[in-house]
Amino acid sequence: MTKTIKNGQELAQAVVEQYGTTDPFLLAELAGIKLDYARWHPLSWGEYDSRSRSICLNLNAPIPLTEVLGHELGHYFVQQFLGKSNRKEEELLASDFATSLFSYSPNV
Ligand SMILES: [Zn+2]
Repeated sequence: MTKTIKNGQELAQAVVEQYGTTDPFLLAELAGIKLDYARWHPLSWGEYDSRSRSICLNLNAPIPLTEVLGHELGHYFVQQFLGKSNRKEEELLASDFATSLFSYSPNV
């Protein structure tokens, strides 16, 4: 790792540069993250489990699963690139990562 990543946007940039895609499903595959699907009451729309390196997507989520996956991948990449941060900080970074991923432009 040559440069320091300070926010979700820089994290998204580093991830896209490394994996060459902004597609969350492809990113998950390339990063070796296992995907599961289930239905539960949508208090949460997805869950990332770091021990099993898997993400479970809630089929009852009221937003597209691509967006849910983008956010959950944010949790994975925050931990990969930045190490452990506190829960609130990681949550913000994951959201910022997803937003940046979906609006990614290589010229910015
Ligand atoms: Zn989250």
